Amino acid sequence: MPISIENALRDAALLLSENQSPSPKIDASVLLCHVLDKPSSYLYTWSDNLLSEEEERGFNALLARRVNGEPVAYIIGYRDFWSLRLNVEPSTLIPRPDTERLVELALERLPVGEGRVLDLGTGTGAIALSLASERQDIRVVGVDLRPEAVALAARNQQCNAITNAEFLQSSWFDNLAGQTFTMIVSNPPYIDPEDPHLSQGDVRFEPKTALIADEHGLADIRHICQQSPQHLATGGWLLIEHGYDQGDVVRTIFSDAGFCNVETVQDYAGQDRVTLGRCSR
Ligand code: GLN
Repeated sequence: MPISIENALRDAALLLSENQSPSPKIDASVLLCHVLDKPSSYLYTWSDNLLSEEEERGFNALLARRVNGEPVAYIIGYRDFWSLRLNVEPSTLIPRPDTERLVELALERLPVGEGRVLDLGTGTGAIALSLASERQDIRVVGVDLRPEAVALAARNQQCNAITNAEFLQSSWFDNLAGQTFTMIVSNPPYIDPEDPHLSQGDVRFEPKTALIADEHGLADIRHICQQSPQHLATGGWLLIEHGYDQGDVVRTIFSDAGFCNVETVQDYAGQDRVTLGRCSR
């Protein structure tokens, strides 16, 4: 018996809620939109429409992957971030809404006129491409340790028709000797390798190299803070995303590395999320 869109969505949401999805209704509708290649408004306008056998089979196959815990963004292959649609692959972190806060803070602090911005550990290119798309007068360089991420970010640049960004392979500053930037931004790995959340939910499918760092999650943040002054113009800002409980220690790391105007800003859930400071040299 063919099933209607409405009933398929209801059954799928029930199945997903029994299998620990934190957002069963949204997941079901995003996956069905993907199978039908239609916007979500279609599901509600045409809720009595019947799924073809092929559509139902396709939907069930995607649901089975979600039941297995795979993140929706990896299943459909993209995630919307800022104003951009970004391809995602299991080689990179899935962009989070919290990181849009970092983009806002960076835009507020970017001086008018030409500038060069560096995004360290760019992954999908989310931060780099958002900044480049908002400010035609700047050039953005995004670097990532993993060549697959560099290729993905470059593909996202093309898909979003952004011309003022470039991506290259580099472990933090290793391939950037002698280069200076107006601003440096980063969403580095910052999770403690012992954090029990790593074995729960979507993060189980994300690359550990993008999530965890030694020294209770602080090793890469320390490295970036210590190296950044050599690559920042005088008065240039450094902005780093970090864990909700790392604000105090990250402010100390910034101050010890010689930054001034050091401040921690909260994400949309009210948790400490981004610390920023100005290069005083
Ligand atoms: N905010 C992400 C999480 O808690 C981690 C992102 C990161 O490590 N850079 O899942």
